[in-house]
Amino acid sequence: MLVMKFGGASLKNASAIERMGKIIRNWNKEPLLIVVSAMGKTTNALDQIGNVALEGNLEEIERLTQQLIAYHRKIIEDLGLAQNQKLNRQAQDYFELARVIAGGICALGEYSPRQYARLVALGELLSSKIIAAYLEQIGNDIVWVDIRDYIKTDPNYRAAKVLFDETAKLLTASPLIPKDPTTIVITQGFIGSAVDNQTTTLGREGSDYTAAILANLLSARQAIFWKDVPGVMNADPDYYPEALLIPELNYEQAANMTFWGAKVIHHSAIEALASKNIPLQVRSFLTPETPGTVIQRCEGVKEPTRLLKQNQVLLFFRHKNLRYMDTTSIHFLFGAMANHNLPTYGVYMAELGIYVITEGAASQLNALQSLLQETYHCEMQHGLALHTLLNTDAEGEEAQVPRNALAALKRKTTVSWLAPQ
Ligand code: ADP
Ligand code: ASP
Ligand code: MG
Repeated sequence: MLVMKFGGASLKNASAIERMGKIIRNWNKEPLLIVVSAMGKTTNALDQIGNVALEGNLEEIERLTQQLIAYHRKIIEDLGLAQNQKLNRQAQDYFELARVIAGGICALGEYSPRQYARLVALGELLSSKIIAAYLEQIGNDIVWVDIRDYIKTDPNYRAAKVLFDETAKLLTASPLIPKDPTTIVITQGFIGSAVDNQTTTLGREGSDYTAAILANLLSARQAIFWKDVPGVMNADPDYYPEALLIPELNYEQAANMTFWGAKVIHHSAIEALASKNIPLQVRSFLTPETPGTVIQRCEGVKEPTRLLKQNQVLLFFRHKNLRYMDTTSIHFLFGAMANHNLPTYGVYMAELGIYVITEGAASQLNALQSLLQETYHCEMQHGLALHTLLNTDAEGEEAQVPRNALAALKRKTTVSWLAPQ
């Protein structure tokens, strides 16, 4: 069995979806499970409706909802699906639900993580319905599955953790395994449900992760992620147009790249595939005939690679009373960061304090600061970019903050430095 994943960019308009149809047209060699994201920037648009609802701006809710309806209606029409009554009714129901959720946020004056998950999930649900209808129209035998019935998570609605045992149990004998090579199963990435069946999300950009979890638990032969780039490259081609394709990587190299900011693959997806040794192809949906990158167990060539992580924050902590930053203090600080869901991408011990590179919302960072400020002197520097060179001997560029942090972050063949964005 093969698992394919198509992201928002690969589904942003009718011609992209038609291209998807062509990609899978000749794929009747083995059972195929397709995981899709919301179309284009729909997740952002839905979240924006939630935020506007929180401000109580009814007019803006309606304007944004109409905009989203028009975007999807155009895709439906351009795909020749305007007369599909079942699809039209389904789409209308989803938009009505978006209005109801937004109305609830408005009335309560609260945009809770639970409401967020219910609202943004509509993007994937709608996208998968439109794609299923289109693929059926062009002659495929399609089974549409609501993935929330199978992927079980904890109730951390914005970035839920998958409950693997429960999910694995539900997946046995599920309709997710296509019954024969001519049937294609379509489902959604990014969403799941808690034990009480409330919708949850696996965190932004989580569709890759869904595809990898399904590949793992259903023991797929291979996963293919279709992207708007030729494959995994030795730099983000959005920032460095001269970037080159890396034809093959091992799992560790790929995981290293995602740690340092290669957002082309969700970092947890690699872990899920590596643990079952399932090869992952990252391929271009614009040039589907090209092989892209394969990530699998292999030696792996060490290509010099440049990586960039935006929106980084540099934290500095020291005791107000000039006590050393001992292991007890570090344990406490890192525990506090973990409790506020703040990651650590770099750590450097200074004379009396500690520097930590992290990223997070202002609310998380402010909550951390208020918790610590009685005992610790805290400084925060926002708007930084973390640059990394992998497999290189070169020194980092002039670091703006703090100079010594470079030394700590430098490993044998990796150089990282922070600079203003
Ligand atoms: P999806 O459509 O599946 O959501 P993403 O937008 O999350 O895909 O990932 C694709 C994007 O990742 C590309 O448009 C590219 O700008 C970015 N990217 C970052 N680093 C790299 C890299 N090293 N190689 C290729 N693409 C990269
Ligand atoms: N649609 C979700 C997002 O934009 C999940 C994904 O695309 O991977 O974050
Ligand atoms: Mg994405």
